[in-house]
Amino acid sequence: MENGNFRALCDILRESYGDRADEAVAGLCEERLTTLRVNTLKTCADDVFKSLRAANIRFSTAAWSENAVIIENAHESDIRRLDIYREGKIYLQSLSSMIPPILLDPKPEDAILDMAAAPGGKTTQLAALSGGAAAITACEKNKIRAERLRFNLERQGANRVTVMVCDSRKLDDRFLFDKILLDAPCSGSGTASNRRCDFTEQLYRRCCELQAELLKKALRLLKPGRRMVYSTCSILPEENENLLLKILPKFSAKLAPIPENAFSGAKRLPCKIPEALLIMPDRLYEGFFAAIIEK
Ligand code: SAM
Repeated sequence: MENGNFRALCDILRESYGDRADEAVAGLCEERLTTLRVNTLKTCADDVFKSLRAANIRFSTAAWSENAVIIENAHESDIRRLDIYREGKIYLQSLSSMIPPILLDPKPEDAILDMAAAPGGKTTQLAALSGGAAAITACEKNKIRAERLRFNLERQGANRVTVMVCDSRKLDDRFLFDKILLDAPCSGSGTASNRRCDFTEQLYRRCCELQAELLKKALRLLKPGRRMVYSTCSILPEENENLLLKILPKFSAKLAPIPENAFSGAKRLPCKIPEALLIMPDRLYEGFFAAIIEK
C-alpha cells in the first residue's frame, strides 16, 4: 500500500516525466540487489572474489568496473558478517553512488574538496581512485555523521583525508581546490519506495535552496580550468538540471559531456541537459543524477 509521502512524490514524477513516470515508480518499488565496492586501498578485486566464493556468495560485476560487485544471493547483513567487510576491504555502496567519484577522476597530485561527505562512501572511493595519494578535505555539517565518516575513513585506510565538521557554505573563499565533489543533500526521491519514503514538499523546497547555495560556493572554490561533479540521489529536475541551468551561466561554468555508452547497464531517464547522467531507478541502480562541470 502506498504511503502519503510516496503518493506526493509520484505526483511530481508524473508532472516531470509523463509516460515514463510509471517506469520510474515501478523501479523505485523494486527491491534492489546488494552491491559493494572493492577497496583498492587494502586489497584487489581477485582477493575479494576469492573470499566471496569461499562464503558461497554468488556475484557478478558491473560492466564499467570490476570493483563494482553485484551480490546475487545474499543481503547486506550477510556481507557485514564477513572478515573482508570488518577489515575494510570492501564497502557496501550502491552502484549509482560509485559513479560521481569515477567522473571526478581524482589524480594523486589533486587537492580535492568533498563538500557533503558523510558517511564517506564517495570520500573513501576518491581516496582509492587516487591510490591513496590525493589530499582530500571532507566536510560534514552533522557531528554524529562526521563521527561515522571518521570511522569509515579509518577502517578503509583513507589516511590522506582531513575531516572538517562544518557547514561547507561557510568555507573560506581563499582556499581553492583542483577538484570538488558536491554530492548534495537532497530529497532522496531516487531512493524512496512505497515502503520507506521521507519525501515532503517542505523537504524538497528546503533541499533546492540548500543545493543552490552549496553549488554557488563550490563554483567559487574551484580553480579556473578545473572540474567538479554535482550529484544527487534525486530524480527531480528542480534539484538537478534546472538548478544547473540557472546557476552555471552566472559563473561562466559549463557542462562536460558524460558519454552515452558510459556506465552501460544503467537505464536513463530523459533529462533536459544531454551532457548529464540521470539514472532510472531499477533492481540494480538507485535513481541518481550526476553532471561534470568545468569552470
Ligand atoms: N557523499 C556521501 C557519501 O557518499 O557517503 C553522502 C552525502 S549525503 C547525500 C549529504 C550529507 O551532507 C549529509 O551527511 C548531510 O549531513 C551533509 N550536509 C548537509 N548540509 C551540509 C552543509 N551545509 N555542509 C556540509 N555538509 C552538509
